[in-house]
Amino acid sequence: MFSLDNRNVFHATELDEQSWLEHGFGARISSGWPDTTDLATVRQIHSDVVVAAEHSGCLAEGDALITNRPGITLSVRTADCLPVLMADPRNRAVAAVHAGWRGVVLGIVPKTVQAMADRFGTRPEDLVVAVGPGIGVCCFEVGPEVAIQFQQWFPERSDLTSTTKVDLRETISRQLRRNFGTVQLFATADLCTVCKPELFHSFRRDREQAGRMVAAIRIQDASR
Ligand SMILES: [Zn+2]
Repeated sequence: MFSLDNRNVFHATELDEQSWLEHGFGARISSGWPDTTDLATVRQIHSDVVVAAEHSGCLAEGDALITNRPGITLSVRTADCLPVLMADPRNRAVAAVHAGWRGVVLGIVPKTVQAMADRFGTRPEDLVVAVGPGIGVCCFEVGPEVAIQFQQWFPERSDLTSTTKVDLRETISRQLRRNFGTVQLFATADLCTVCKPELFHSFRRDREQAGRMVAAIRIQDASR
């Protein structure tokens, strides 16, 4: 479930229930978001590179950030690519992922889960995973050269050798199930950035004029 708060920032109910963290998925209509300029970011390159954040700032080239340090705001910027926020309640660790089609094909989401497992002892079955607003299957039509790259996750489809539509959210869901079995809490926003210009920026729709939206997650700093 996703809802809008009074700043017009989208929230996943499953992450709101984690009182030890704060999060939000920014939209075109958001104000006062992100709620800090002290962000941990990466220079996004549509890769499968996961960066562990020990402090804020632009840390490296990559497309996912992980941390277990309170007070560090992990953030990614998107306009059609999927923002994915994750939380491990048992070990109190979080992740923010920028997942466009190239990153999805490279497995950026399961690789982030694996990085959390390696670094923080995260058990995939404990993870709360929320996929925010991004391009929907309704609008993600791609040529055969792109579509064929999704065949391994959609063995039942025979149309991926031609121009067709691909569901990035479903791809991520299948990747997590294939790699880790059931991921308990998987919230996905049925919010297409291309279809809803009143709510979202969209690169596919607005090209170079498109703005970017920030998704962010932070472990609460009890010392503040
Ligand atoms: Zn759409």
